[in-house]
Amino acid sequence: MPDPSPDLTIGVLAVQGDVREHVAALGAAGAATRLVRRPAELDGLDGLVIPGGESTTIDRLCRIFGLHEPIRRLIAGGLPVYGSCAGMIQLAEEILDGHAEQQSFGGIDMTVRRNAFGRQVDSFEVDLEITGLSDPERPFVAVFIRAPWVERLGEDVEVLAAVDGHPVAVRQGPLLATSFHPEVTGDHRVHELFVKACSG
Ligand code: GLN
Repeated sequence: MPDPSPDLTIGVLAVQGDVREHVAALGAAGAATRLVRRPAELDGLDGLVIPGGESTTIDRLCRIFGLHEPIRRLIAGGLPVYGSCAGMIQLAEEILDGHAEQQSFGGIDMTVRRNAFGRQVDSFEVDLEITGLSDPERPFVAVFIRAPWVERLGEDVEVLAAVDGHPVAVRQGPLLATSFHPEVTGDHRVHELFVKACSG
């Protein structure tokens, strides 16, 4: 495990979801981390991770805790942000099958459909080739849990991986999103890709 870089602090939005797993994966990828539950904890970050969990809950709590607008502003200002699963949903400009009042942070020019890959019982794993990862010959075991899929992509969005023609890893500038959960696999290459984006 590399020593955390003292120069690089990545926030992990810690209102709900698999926060601990992202903290561990980012640490293994060489970054120091900070849990974010209040607006002041966003100050001075080099990047932010929005974990998997339940996007409707993450959205509701972020608005209650006053995090919604500051995070939107940071995204607009170019902060690198990575969202996995529920985090992907929160980075989408448009959500289908969301709750009526659900709001995303936006940032990535795409439309995602919640739970499109199936319900909890339909969770699955698949070996993926993901553009930009180190050791590209080695497949990445991607775990999907009630995952969203992407139904529309803007032309500035790059597809890094797809399953049956559906994009499941996308990037737009400093924003990265995956429908799956790399934080639960012990393979830290997606987090390494994000840490690199935060230091660049
Ligand atoms: N279905 C969840 C949502 O809408 C996402 C599932 C996940 O993050 N594993 O937020």
